Amino acid sequence: MGKITIEQSQSPKTKPDQNNLGFGNYFTDHMFIMDYTEGVGWHDPRIIPYQPLMMDPATMVFHYGQAIFEGLKAYKARDGRVLLFRPHKNMARINISNDRLCIPPIDVDFGVEAIKALVKLEKDWIPEAEGTSLYIRPFIIATDPYLGVRPSLTYKFMIILSPVGAYYPEGINPVKIYIESKYVRAVKGGIGFAKTAGNYAASLKSQVEAQNKGYTQVLWLDGVERKYIEEVGTMNIFFKIDGKVVTPLLEGSILDGITRDSSIALLKHWGIPVEERRISIEEIFQAQADGKLDEAFGTGTAAVISPIGSLNWNDNIITINNGQTGEISKRIYDTITGIQSGAMEDPFGWTISVE
Ligand SMILES: *Cc1c(COP(=O)(O)O)cnc(C)c1O
Repeated sequence: MGKITIEQSQSPKTKPDQNNLGFGNYFTDHMFIMDYTEGVGWHDPRIIPYQPLMMDPATMVFHYGQAIFEGLKAYKARDGRVLLFRPHKNMARINISNDRLCIPPIDVDFGVEAIKALVKLEKDWIPEAEGTSLYIRPFIIATDPYLGVRPSLTYKFMIILSPVGAYYPEGINPVKIYIESKYVRAVKGGIGFAKTAGNYAASLKSQVEAQNKGYTQVLWLDGVERKYIEEVGTMNIFFKIDGKVVTPLLEGSILDGITRDSSIALLKHWGIPVEERRISIEEIFQAQADGKLDEAFGTGTAAVISPIGSLNWNDNIITINNGQTGEISKRIYDTITGIQSGAMEDPFGWTISVE
């Protein structure tokens, strides 16, 4: 792959107001890019000024969706260090997605080096206000200009950076979730476990309909029986029932979230029982009827933890924990964000410094 070359931008942008960033609105001065050519492998890793791509209209990604992505965050710690949270996990997951989409693998360590090099160059872009961070978006697209259906022989791996605001400016707040019984997101044997554009394309219609009904996100049920719980929009899901925390098993149709994995590790570390297993939607509504449903929350890089205040399943609506943020949700949120921002001790060695 060789050494990463750097071409500095000659026209740095004005940095946005840190208190009004939102999510994914602003991009930094530079981007990372490297190419793949069949027979040559990945080559020409470079950091260049952030710029549009010029592509042939026949470029395969536009037509057949061979595209994968990742998402992670960099934080500036109070002591000035720039921290990444478990970046090797993201780069390992890229290869799981790549394999499913017939995209050639990248070298995990090199991928982390590329992230580090770009973040280091852009470190003045990392916002410092409470709850803000620099979102990192690595992605790969198929680039052959060709309309036949087959895996592309050329690809681009890119990394772009976006300063993002606190997901919940007023602290974490429970959201209303609509349980989707009409559309499905994925089935076993499909691409549900890959972080790929197509899964999002499949989810938009349901998302829009739920939002029109006043819900923040949808909870997906399994694609065969519409019976077992899968995940929420861009997050994995957890429930606390009768003192025990449960989350759906990874069976090929949901994403193996890094926040999910970190939450399970923390729960085990705290001695709180946690199970990965099939959970039917009836079980959740029954637990609520029995007074045993204590908490529900989503996990994902963007929001970290998103408490769930209510669920609507075929117009049966339940309010969880009186619509308040639960104790476990809050504790996991405080701990993960504390570790990510360097404010708390990191007993698992999850963070790495870019320098
Ligand atoms: C990215 C993503 C998640 C969350 O994964 P994290 O690694 O925790 O950010 C969950 N579900 C889907 C569908 C995703 O794309």
